[in-house]
Amino acid sequence: MKSDIWIEERHRAGVAARFRIKQVLFQGTSPFQEVTIVDTVPLGKMLLNDGLVMVSEKDEFVYHEMIAHVPVFVHPSPRRVLVIGGGDGGTVREVLRHRGVRACRLVEIDRMVVDACRKHLPAVSGALKDRRATVTIADGVKFVATTRERFDVVIVDSTDPIGPAAPLFGRKFYANVRRVLTPGGIVVSQAESPFYEAEAQRSLLSILGSVFKRAHLYNFSNLTYPGGLWSFAFASDRFCPVEDFRPEAVRGAGLKFQYYNAPLHMAAFQLPQFMRDRYKKLLSCCG
Ligand code: SAM
Repeated sequence: MKSDIWIEERHRAGVAARFRIKQVLFQGTSPFQEVTIVDTVPLGKMLLNDGLVMVSEKDEFVYHEMIAHVPVFVHPSPRRVLVIGGGDGGTVREVLRHRGVRACRLVEIDRMVVDACRKHLPAVSGALKDRRATVTIADGVKFVATTRERFDVVIVDSTDPIGPAAPLFGRKFYANVRRVLTPGGIVVSQAESPFYEAEAQRSLLSILGSVFKRAHLYNFSNLTYPGGLWSFAFASDRFCPVEDFRPEAVRGAGLKFQYYNAPLHMAAFQLPQFMRDRYKKLLSCCG
């Protein structure tokens, strides 16, 4: 008999998504959250933190390619990259496809996420074994406040701004991100849904614009995140993500992508009119 067990992810504003599952592969409660990995009928294996979908095998390439390749292709020589959050390993995997990257440090607060993904999501987490990857189990907020290391690119691959992830959307955190960046370095952050989280986006943009010389949003759409359309934020004291982007670097890298490409990189920064109107005073112009 076919399984007819469904899990429900509750989005904001009384909206939910349901996924039919084959089996629960892992379920545990860490000091930070409930961590679940299920094998679903339609979307392959899926990681949920506190019941919210983080990664599905079917569409994780969209998020991970767009969070990683945009800053790494804009920076002219990204040697050292810091990923905060992202314990599933997908962002590290994409960063390390760039041969010029010599070191990628992942700072994830929750060991349970890393261990569960290493075991059950090897296609996503496999690059954590790369000799250039270092996994540090720690609070990213404390890490950027105290480390002496410096990075060319910082990627904030965080959960929603609640619990331990809340300070990852704050001014003090970004002042410290700027401190750990090499001059002109780039930060890219998970920036929530333009439909459901206008205030979180506004606040993040305003903070980034006060800490860095440039702040931008760029969009992607995937299958599993609430509302379909989702954003990342990009900030730097030096680099414009469109004017300083060299499409020939993408061709020269010889990498095969499933979502990212050079025209899409530029197009992602062209925001829908409702976002332009909403954030016009906060966005650095480009494109
Ligand atoms: N792709 C994802 C999304 O937006 O749905 C993000 C995935 S990733 C699994 C997010 C990770 O950030 C979680 O595993 C969580 O434990 C981690 N995290 C939350 N707060 C953190 C903090 N202060 N320092 C480091 N990691 C943190």
